[in-house]
Amino acid sequence: MTEPDTKKYYCNECKRDTSHYVRREFEKITHDDEYQETFSQEMKIIECCGCEHLAFVQRTNYSADLTVQINPRTKQPEEALAWKQNIYPPVTYRSLPIWHENIEDCILRDLFEEIYKALQMNCRYLATTGSRTLIDRLIVLIVGDQGNFARGLEKLKSESAISEHEHQILTTTVEAGSAAAHRGWAPTKEELVTILDTIEGLIHRLLVLPERTAKLEQSIPNR
Ligand SMILES: [Zn+2]
Repeated sequence: MTEPDTKKYYCNECKRDTSHYVRREFEKITHDDEYQETFSQEMKIIECCGCEHLAFVQRTNYSADLTVQINPRTKQPEEALAWKQNIYPPVTYRSLPIWHENIEDCILRDLFEEIYKALQMNCRYLATTGSRTLIDRLIVLIVGDQGNFARGLEKLKSESAISEHEHQILTTTVEAGSAAAHRGWAPTKEELVTILDTIEGLIHRLLVLPERTAKLEQSIPNR
């Protein structure tokens, strides 16, 4: 028996491009006689050859949508159909940290989950402004509402919750959120990773680790 054809797609479980079996597929082409154009749709159910994760791929193309590609055989540029591709559930490039379930404050936890949903849908503005709101909530939980970000961050520093260096990094992170909210700036995927690394590191250190350490202390038997 011959093995079915495989194709490379991003796998949400393996977190990288892997070979996939196409288990089912359906194609539909609609013709527009007035404009002499066609609309093509392809739907596929795919299965990762490694982890057996299932996903749904939707590819669409209008015949007028063209792009220039390098022909791998001749190495020459040539016109090709520009296909749009969506994978469901959406591709997840970054997963929620496991410890987020240990965050006691449900608002902070919900904010975390919403930011990651925004990331999954490639909503970079929402993810960036959401990250700023995450810092806001962190300030409220640690030192109380200080009226604005600058005062909040200053208070965190004066109470020794963050270092001077962290204060600088957080100020930049808040500025990124403000630029997304007010000036229509969206960070790249790599810049978003930096923003999330910064905030997650801080939340883990200030809220999650003390809680875990307290539990550890209780579990250690007395001498
Ligand atoms: Zn996989």
